[in-house]
Amino acid sequence: MTNALLDGEPVGLRTQEKIIIEIGPGVRAQPGDDVIDAGGGILVGPLINGHTHAAMTLFRGYGDDLPLMRWLEEKIWPIERRLEPEDVYWGTRLACLEMIRSGTVRFWDMYWHAPAAARAVADAGMRATVAAPLIDVDGRSEQMRAAALDTLDELADAPDRIDAGLAPHAIYTVTEDSLRWIAKLAAERDIPVQIHLSETEQEVIDCLAAHGERPARYLDRVGLLSPRTVLAHGVWVDQDELELIAARGATVVTNPVANLKLAVGGVFPYPQARAAGVRVGLGTDGPGSNNSLDLFSDMKTFALVQKHAANDPAAIDAVETWEIATGQKAPALGAAPALEAGQPADFLLLRAGAPELSFGELPAALVYAASGAVVETTVVGGQPLMRDGVIDGAEEVLVRALERARRLGLAHRSHPS
Ligand SMILES: [Zn+2]
Repeated sequence: MTNALLDGEPVGLRTQEKIIIEIGPGVRAQPGDDVIDAGGGILVGPLINGHTHAAMTLFRGYGDDLPLMRWLEEKIWPIERRLEPEDVYWGTRLACLEMIRSGTVRFWDMYWHAPAAARAVADAGMRATVAAPLIDVDGRSEQMRAAALDTLDELADAPDRIDAGLAPHAIYTVTEDSLRWIAKLAAERDIPVQIHLSETEQEVIDCLAAHGERPARYLDRVGLLSPRTVLAHGVWVDQDELELIAARGATVVTNPVANLKLAVGGVFPYPQARAAGVRVGLGTDGPGSNNSLDLFSDMKTFALVQKHAANDPAAIDAVETWEIATGQKAPALGAAPALEAGQPADFLLLRAGAPELSFGELPAALVYAASGAVVETTVVGGQPLMRDGVIDGAEEVLVRALERARRLGLAHRSHPS
């Protein structure tokens, strides 16, 4: 890549074998290189979506404006029982398309038919940690455990861009015995665990009633709070829980847009989490409950909500917000640490002359003014997944995803046939 701007300076960047081998002023194309002329575009590290249910693109716009449990029980779960792997494949391909377009290169997925999701990520060229949700409060613990082991076996063949994990859905949908089993399996195989935690106040009330302790304490007691653990939400955590999460080295992924849309009644206490030393990332949550996968939107909302909740415009600044959205404050999420030689060749090129980026300091422009529309080129492991705004095969992905949504009775009248 030639003629790009990095920290305001013109630079070149060369990649080889998925790695950045040279970056800086004076780096020029060599004979045989495939050259992208950045045309003065801005080079930045890519975004990391720490929590989503990618295939729920198919559910976008279905059952909006309901509380969490009614939305799940009345709208989502009945249709999910009819899901086939091809639904998940095309729903995930569409999610990948949207994430690539808006600058996300890696995401943490929790969804049914995880091997189909992994296949979609592989075909889209992205990176992801994929895991099937585990639920056994219906008494089917044996089936759930067998399915979890089968899924891990199937995911073993995925490309190295894709990691397998375990995803107990939540403390209220998985039995204590199975949570302990999951903790043991994750430790034995050294694989990550994603779980929703303290999204609503009711979850905390129910946990106190059932177990006599708050959710993070309970999770710790069953062995599930470790550096391998990624906790989605953490809205209703108290000071003791934040200190425990930090001490155990677990990561919290905050999903501010989904939390606001579902009106969970609180805000993840980021200033307290930062002071306690908690590792923090940012997620969209599923496109059924956000409904966007443009992490720029979540980034802005995160910063604004934190300022508002703290009654302090300095509660978080643009630089720190960008670091969180790019995974720099949560190493377990798997972002490349920096744009430098020797690191994975994952980066974005932002459109030269975009008005949103043309004034003031870049971090503030990225967080407060920009949307994913400023992303022009997205590169993962040295492969351009979007180049000059074009993603190969994009039309087919949308058509096929719409076919799958229609099959499930989810497509709307205004869609092209
Ligand atoms: Zn979620």
